[in-house]
Amino acid sequence: MTLVVAQVIVDVAAYPVDRPFDYLVPEEWHALIEVGSRVKVPFGPRNVLGFVVALQHDTEVPMNKIKPVTQVLDIEPVLTEEMLEMAKWLKQQTICYEIDALQAMLPSALRAKYEKIVHLCGEIEDVPKPLQPFFNRNGKADFKNFEKAGLLHELKAAVKDGFVTIENSVKQQGAVKEIRKVQINQDRKKLEKIESEISKRAQKQKQLVQWMAERPGQVFLPDEVCSETGVTMAVLQVVIEKGAAAFIKEEVYRDPFTKDIVKTDFLKLTDEQETALSAITGAMDAQVAETFLLQGITGSGKTEVYLQAIQHTLQEGKESIVLVPEISLTPQMTERFRSRFGELVAVMHSGLSVGEKYDEWRKVQQGKVKVVVGARSAIFAPFGNLGLIILDEEHESTYKQEDSPRYHARDVAIWRSEYHKCPVILGSATPSLESFARAKKGVYTLLTLKKRAMNQNLPTVHIVDMREELKLGNRSMFSIQLADAIRERLAKKEQTVLFLNRRGYSSFVLCRDCGTVVECPNCDISLTYHRFSEKLKCHYCGHEEYVPEVCPECASDHIRFFGTGTQKVEEELHKLFPEARVLRMDVDTTNKKGAHETILDAFGRGEADILLGTQMIAKGLDFPNITLVGVLSADTSLHLPDYRSAERTFQLLTQVSGRAGRHEKAGEVFVQTYTPEHYAIELSKEQLYEPFYEREMYVRRQANYPPYYYLALIQVSHEDVMMAAEYAARASEYLRANLSFNVSIIGPTTASISRLQNRYRYQCLIKYKVEPKLIPVLLQLIKLYRSEWIKKGIQLTIDLDPSMI
Ligand code: ADP
Ligand code: ZN
Ligand code: ZN
Repeated sequence: MTLVVAQVIVDVAAYPVDRPFDYLVPEEWHALIEVGSRVKVPFGPRNVLGFVVALQHDTEVPMNKIKPVTQVLDIEPVLTEEMLEMAKWLKQQTICYEIDALQAMLPSALRAKYEKIVHLCGEIEDVPKPLQPFFNRNGKADFKNFEKAGLLHELKAAVKDGFVTIENSVKQQGAVKEIRKVQINQDRKKLEKIESEISKRAQKQKQLVQWMAERPGQVFLPDEVCSETGVTMAVLQVVIEKGAAAFIKEEVYRDPFTKDIVKTDFLKLTDEQETALSAITGAMDAQVAETFLLQGITGSGKTEVYLQAIQHTLQEGKESIVLVPEISLTPQMTERFRSRFGELVAVMHSGLSVGEKYDEWRKVQQGKVKVVVGARSAIFAPFGNLGLIILDEEHESTYKQEDSPRYHARDVAIWRSEYHKCPVILGSATPSLESFARAKKGVYTLLTLKKRAMNQNLPTVHIVDMREELKLGNRSMFSIQLADAIRERLAKKEQTVLFLNRRGYSSFVLCRDCGTVVECPNCDISLTYHRFSEKLKCHYCGHEEYVPEVCPECASDHIRFFGTGTQKVEEELHKLFPEARVLRMDVDTTNKKGAHETILDAFGRGEADILLGTQMIAKGLDFPNITLVGVLSADTSLHLPDYRSAERTFQLLTQVSGRAGRHEKAGEVFVQTYTPEHYAIELSKEQLYEPFYEREMYVRRQANYPPYYYLALIQVSHEDVMMAAEYAARASEYLRANLSFNVSIIGPTTASISRLQNRYRYQCLIKYKVEPKLIPVLLQLIKLYRSEWIKKGIQLTIDLDPSMI
């Protein structure tokens, strides 16, 4: 007997060493197990899920110590070679457990164990005799029974021969339906023989088989057969028993798209679009892993370039992945892909149920679709022959995962493009500074679209100085200009979008007279107000102070916390414009599935005059009757404790303005602010990306921030504040002792959320340019943490590309 040993990554993410463990594969499982299969294995006192990463014929574990695999969960492996390699890379790249990386690539239905059901594809007689007793009347059987009876070899053979299929029962939970169809025997001679053997008295049977003999191999619904030939179901049954046809099961996927699709045609590209497309298809044809940065102003037709590049991939017989920032917020975007490529498109996003996600994943795995449109995790779509990866709005922070594995979809995209030798398109009107800097260096290839595709003008943007409003005695959150503009739209029956720029959880202190925001004297980052201690704190350096009673700049006492909710704005809107019909879109109104779509559809149909919302309305919205956009407070995102706050503000304002006047009617935008002179606000007025880039790069260089420097963030938390502080101090001492002297280590300081779920949080920030020792040192720190600190209730996380700090 040959010895088969499986190397298994187990689902135990608290174990100090992260490596595969050896398990003996009992003979009964030899036929089933493959690299990439999920297994159950004993680990300590428990039986845990694991993934087979290698199979071999020897082991260093003594035979009396090695434990056996208890169960193989898959007939076909769920992980590909590519995924296994990718997991190793992710583990290094993001310092995570390999199991976390592997789990991230699978739909949640495959992360836990689900009961398995065996389905008959044809007739019971077709499957080997020993298997037959296990099937019930509906042609189903429980996988476990075959396992108990030692019949897995026979079962796998029956699967290979196409007589049965095995499914996780998640499918039974309503995601996939099966319908029964009748497939006529392929063999006309056999049919004629059957017909000749039927007695003359069984007229109906004879008729039916004659009818079938004219249609060998064809598939019908049972009802169709009966109504076509005028026979009863009982007659059909008899004829099927004689072998003239067989029942087959066809999977019908529950369709996560609710609307019918209207097919759209390819547009004739503008010269700019054409140039961009041919660069991309050139890389495809040459089979090189080239990354393109497609920078085009809002409405310049980037999406049309994506669509035609995908078309080219399809013609090559290859697959494409399209990532969008948060797909459930942008149904319009999905529509555009569906209406071009129809059934070839699968969607993957957080709005789908567990079952739906699993279905979409299987469609991809089985090659039933060629295009995936999805949010961040769709980057792991299990395509085997990728030809193109697209990240739309590549600057969006949603592409970064904030839990382990803390990966950026952009990095994974580039890794996969190298694996598959295919291009990546990073698209944006306002690329991230990192990406634009790489494009300037020639690491990425820059493609630009400077004109709007239909030659519409950019909307006219007015910056409204809210300090002046106060002087005029207007204490409302609507400036006089914006209120007038809304009134005008109401009269003309045109639509208005109002955007309340409110993100994050923190609040800052702002002087209503001069617009000054209280900043850290050391860091040039806004101080965050902590309600609990009534202090202002800097999350970068730890500086803290009491809230000033008067403005440090102008001595006004109109200095207060800033932050307004959408609900309050809605109330004020009703007071100002009692006749206006208002739709509100924020976390409260969109917690039900499909709510975004319902609200947007209603607005699209003209059922409201004003759409009021948070940043979730900034993306993708494209309706012809929107001629006015109002931004209530541009400053909010400007004063977040984040080195990217100016960049985010510029991006957000550009994107929001892009919602107005995308069609025939001209658009107008009002941006209300207390700091109209800020370059992020001024330059967004005419979408002046490059001047903004130059200006912001200067700031970053001065302050040693990315893209000039890299950051790594180490967070330590504990239920006890002293413990958290102590171990954060230990971590920073460890780093100081082991990293090069030119690496700056800031902290420990309290984290921007200083207490979360009853845990106190501290952090250290590492800024570095080149530090070959970083990863090895961090791995050592992790080892220390996993082997000792973890027992004391400490949690330590490392983020090599932190977004909020
Ligand atoms: P972006 O993605 O850059 O914001 P879109 O792809 O949404 O731009 O294009 C904006 C509008 O221009 C859409 O209504 C689109 O149908 C239209 N459009 C794009 N390319 C063309 C073209 N080549 N000819 C005509 N209309 C186009
Ligand atoms: Zn002031
Ligand atoms: Zn500071």
